[in-house]
Amino acid sequence: MIRVGVLGGGASGMAAAVVASRNGAEVTILERLDRVGKKLLATGNGRCNYTNDIIDMSRYYSSNRDLLEECLSNITSKSTIGFFRELGVEPFFDETGKVFPYSLQASSVLEVLREEYLRYGAKEICGQRILAIKPIGGAYMVQTDLDTFEFDRVIVAMGGKSNEKLGSDGSGFELMAGLGYELSEIYPALVKLKSDFIHLRSLKGLKVNASVSLYADENLVANDLGEVLFADYGISGPPIMQLSGIAVKKINEGKNVRVSLDFFSDISSNDLFEILSDRFINLKHKSLKDSLVGLINKRMILPLLKEAGIDDFFQKPTKMNRRQIYAIIKELKSLRINVTGFHSWADAQVTAGGVLLTEINPQTMEACHHKNLFVTGEILDVYGDCGGFNLHWAWNTGIKAGHHSSIIR
Ligand SMILES: Cc1cc2nc3c(=O)[nH]c(=O)nc-3n(C[C@H](O)[C@H](O)[C@H](O)COP(=O)(O)OP(=O)(O)OC[C@H]3O[C@@H](n4cnc5c(N)ncnc54)[C@H](O)[C@@H]3O)c2cc1C
Repeated sequence: MIRVGVLGGGASGMAAAVVASRNGAEVTILERLDRVGKKLLATGNGRCNYTNDIIDMSRYYSSNRDLLEECLSNITSKSTIGFFRELGVEPFFDETGKVFPYSLQASSVLEVLREEYLRYGAKEICGQRILAIKPIGGAYMVQTDLDTFEFDRVIVAMGGKSNEKLGSDGSGFELMAGLGYELSEIYPALVKLKSDFIHLRSLKGLKVNASVSLYADENLVANDLGEVLFADYGISGPPIMQLSGIAVKKINEGKNVRVSLDFFSDISSNDLFEILSDRFINLKHKSLKDSLVGLINKRMILPLLKEAGIDDFFQKPTKMNRRQIYAIIKELKSLRINVTGFHSWADAQVTAGGVLLTEINPQTMEACHHKNLFVTGEILDVYGDCGGFNLHWAWNTGIKAGHHSSIIR
């Protein structure tokens, strides 16, 4: 019987354990926390957004896109959904393409994975921190803080560095670097951004739909659309989280990073000029600030007028000249918010960067310099957008490694 050591009991490791144990391997999962799958329980706000209806390469980030594509070739959301259906999880598709278990419970995903590998005789050893992986002949010695294990094959599924309390603390990177593997720079992604925007206190808690453009040294680098959330520290919400990986990278490169919010992305500046001009005439009995109620979220009105350089909020709207109307439009269509930093690893959903894809075989996930050592999930130099892309990557790299680590070659 092939002895397979799964190092890390997260999403990727558990998927690997299911496949390897089904293939007849003697599987042992080593996990540093007191139980497996702690992070999985927190995913999708406890509902586990486990894949996406449309798995598109443009939703993934890696320093080697060709190899990323090879890793994910022939792997669709259908295959992920099929894998979970076999375990009893029926998919629920939301209107944006996110896929959840029909039960809307992350715990049900965890339960079916565990049940399956335990049914095939896999063992879980929790509460032990892996300290070293030592190649011995063609096999491996894995040393933890409490014990030493010997395996014929090992799957390194130790995750990234994000959200340490849910397990991954970056120790996998150190172990892989110690074995001689090359890593790209790691940084937190899908993380909230800090800002010195002076109106944050008054806007705290507000959610507004906007088209968000990200600039580094005044060059447009990316954009996204959705609900932006203002907080006392800065900004978050789906489009901000989506852009955060690129923003963090640019900040680390020493660039000046800012976002520009367009609250009327479907209306041109000239059309908006007509709309505001008509409005200011029709609502001439109101104050300037009140004339904007119903068009702009009420809490945004004063900050936007201040940013436009207009301090007399109670003047009649008919007093607005062309230059002032265009100054308001500039703020409505390109409100400037400097990004001064980002939240810490503890608060990030994923890790960008990691073990380079050039260091593994994309067909099998086997490491290039060590036969019988496989690397899967977030520890690799790949991350995805919010929407199920990260778990999709974790499961499927785990499934591949689980298969290739457990067959006679
Ligand atoms: C709050 C939150 C919500 C998320 N929601 C979603 C979502 O809805 N959809 C989505 O696609 N993605 C989501 N993600 C991202 C997703 O959870 C991860 O990308 C995915 O879990 C990575 O799987 P993994 O197995 O590679 O790593 P992990 O799930 O991090 O598992 C690694 C495991 O290895 C263990 N380990 C690490 N080091 C050691 C060591 N030295 N010794 C022993 N054990 C060790 C850890 O304890 C952990 O259990 C979310 C992340 C967070 C933090």
